Amino acid sequence: MILLDGKKTSADIKEEIALEVGALKRNEKKAPHLAAIIVGNDGASLTYVNAKVKACERVGFESTLIQLPEETTEAELLNEIEILNVDNDIDGFIVQLPLPKHIDEQKVLLAVDPAKDVDGFHPENVGRMALNLPTFISATPFGILELLDRYEVETSGKNVVVIGRSHIVGSPMSILLSQKRKVGNATVTLTHSRTQNLEAITKEADIIVAAIGIPEFLKGNMVKDGVVVIDVGITRVADASKKSGFRLVGDVAFDEVAEKSSFITPVPGGVGPMTIAMLLKNTLIANKRRNS
Ligand code: NAD
Repeated sequence: MILLDGKKTSADIKEEIALEVGALKRNEKKAPHLAAIIVGNDGASLTYVNAKVKACERVGFESTLIQLPEETTEAELLNEIEILNVDNDIDGFIVQLPLPKHIDEQKVLLAVDPAKDVDGFHPENVGRMALNLPTFISATPFGILELLDRYEVETSGKNVVVIGRSHIVGSPMSILLSQKRKVGNATVTLTHSRTQNLEAITKEADIIVAAIGIPEFLKGNMVKDGVVVIDVGITRVADASKKSGFRLVGDVAFDEVAEKSSFITPVPGGVGPMTIAMLLKNTLIANKRRNS
């Protein structure tokens, strides 16, 4: 069994990005600049967004964090987005989700200039992804493609089973892996909460992507020998032995599935760390497109 080490791979990617940024600066070109908007004081969202800003600094990007109060109106947020859309210094920006309930998330995502939409959530970019045209592939699916690529996991002609059909993971993953691309050309089955006899389907899979959000959902008896397993799930489970009071658990019963796997991602340290690295990569791509 080979561990698909997202921590190490993301560190490698960040190092490569830092080298590219160094070269840009030496050539007196502008360093990529990522902005992030966060509305409200949700602890987990603040942690995520601060991690993104810190990661920017480490690779030599410029970063701007715009913190807006919980009571910000939809109109005020749309106005901030418009300011970033027209700011020539900003290559890409993200609006940290979830947003407070009084703000329409769809309206906000639609307001972001697709050329600066480094999260890849704008419908235009999702459509371009579905058509295999140049776009920003959103960070989690992009990170999974990158992990499979760097570990040279063969996907062409393989039976892939994706569990979960969310707009941010399951659905794009099923589209990308079925496309004609280097990490792709697979025969993909997209399964979800209404799928019947899931176990019979997963047992036939060469590669399984689990994005459900139910801790240890995928058991050893649901997979065949030699399977490749990508565990996207992250659930906080109470654990008194930890200082934080919880531990992170994936969608895969790791020990029993790992025993039968050829490759598997751990949780934590698998898909999770790849996300920020791919956001940085998208920002570098945005910078290059704007300056080419
Ligand atoms: P979601 O929570 O929006 O939806 C869950 C999906 O699972 C649905 O499509 C549903 O149909 C499916 N599902 C639910 N019960 C099922 C069942 N019994 N059998 C088959 N399918 C079932 O999904 P999401 O936003 O993709 O999140 C999934 C998990 O991935 C969560 O734990 C989330 O925290 C995690 N996540 C991790 C990252 C990362 O960077 N590692 C990024 C995004 C999401």
